[in-house]
Amino acid sequence: MSTLQEKDKRFLWHPYTQMHDYAQRDLLLIDRAEGIFLFDQEGRRYFDTISSWWCIVHGHSHPIITEKIRSQLARLDQVLLAGTTHEPAILLAEQLVRLTPPELTRVFYSDNGSTACEIAIKMSLQYWRQTGQPGRCQLVGIERGYHGDTIGTMSLGGVPEFHGPFAPLLFSSHRLPSPYCYRCPFGREQEGCDCRCLEPLAQLLAEQGAQIAALIIEPLIQAAGGMIVYPAKYLQKLAGLTKEYGVHLIFDEVATGFGRTGTMFALEQAGVVPDFLCLSKGLTAGMLPMAATLTSEEVFQAFYGDYGAGKTFFHGHTFSGNPLAAAAALGSLLVFAEEQTMVGLPAKITHLQARMRRFAELPWVGDLRQLGMITAMELVKDKSTKAPYDVHERVGWPIYLAGLKHGLLLRPMGNVIYFWLPLSVTLAEIDEITERAWQVLSDPQ
Ligand code: PLP
Repeated sequence: MSTLQEKDKRFLWHPYTQMHDYAQRDLLLIDRAEGIFLFDQEGRRYFDTISSWWCIVHGHSHPIITEKIRSQLARLDQVLLAGTTHEPAILLAEQLVRLTPPELTRVFYSDNGSTACEIAIKMSLQYWRQTGQPGRCQLVGIERGYHGDTIGTMSLGGVPEFHGPFAPLLFSSHRLPSPYCYRCPFGREQEGCDCRCLEPLAQLLAEQGAQIAALIIEPLIQAAGGMIVYPAKYLQKLAGLTKEYGVHLIFDEVATGFGRTGTMFALEQAGVVPDFLCLSKGLTAGMLPMAATLTSEEVFQAFYGDYGAGKTFFHGHTFSGNPLAAAAALGSLLVFAEEQTMVGLPAKITHLQARMRRFAELPWVGDLRQLGMITAMELVKDKSTKAPYDVHERVGWPIYLAGLKHGLLLRPMGNVIYFWLPLSVTLAEIDEITERAWQVLSDPQ
């Protein structure tokens, strides 16, 4: 056995990857990264247009964050967070509470986005048991929603391709239609939309509201479900309904948190405050794994009491609140402040929008959507009928391969091609990425 790639094929099994695709082909072996670029072993450069699975915020290996991690490593590498505590976890919790709406006062750490959401679900269920409403045990998710790969989050997910095989393992839950404006089942245009897709929620709550514990949703964009961007008023109406029936609202901002949508958190654009806010990915600017679930004092107090009262939240992970990750997160917040990241964002968002416009002219681009630094194109067989490609046609695969030839790391999701750009991207880099993508997409494969 000689090359690393051969060893890769011999010993590794990659996530969300059909390994057969690489029977005759090597996986892209990344050797190092800097800024928006990934470099392979031969020194070839690729634009990381997907922020390495949506987590890189200030570019790879930002020096301030790197230094924070390094000095933390010299001081305290890891310690359990049960019964002990440490400075980075405390200071980060304080900052997260300050950054998010005042109603969210408590931070519970974990180490990935799935667990951040799983924790919110578990807290909600236990809350209702401990506040005299044990009958509130049903949960609601949204079609095309994605909250992770744990059992609880898969049970509330709405992407059948991901969750189908595990059906026997999953609990039953309610599923609302996706606010998929491009394919609105009610034929509404975004302009005059009255959110008819929320009628099933209104009906469900009217019939069974007192049995429903929580509803989980990705605010403003269903990311893994196909980069489905939807209007803030949908979220406002939905929040109005859950509030009316006392149902917990869980916002999964694992992907959208930390500036990606143009505001620090997507919830700011709707002016809605959830009972639980789930964060990960960009929390450490993508440099180390970490997650946080924020909730209200009311929820916290429902778990607070004498040990014998049995109210403890029995949940935790070995690496919950890991000091290195917490230091990275503090470093990222420092970069936000020092580089005034959010101030520079509107110009980048407008520039990206302008550069993307011409893609709408392509006969195979059915829909072009954007939310902040996230932009997506839905490819269709026929623009006038919106006829979709069959999943087995794998339209994304040749685009991925062509992207590599043009120095772009793309990761099409079925028929949706998207950019999820780091906030540090420059206007010149936006020009280069969109120009290279034009070379890829304007040439029918
Ligand atoms: N929630 C959302 C909205 C996500 O996009 C993801 C991952 O893509 C998750 C949860 C799961 O996060 P993780 O992959 O860190 O478990």
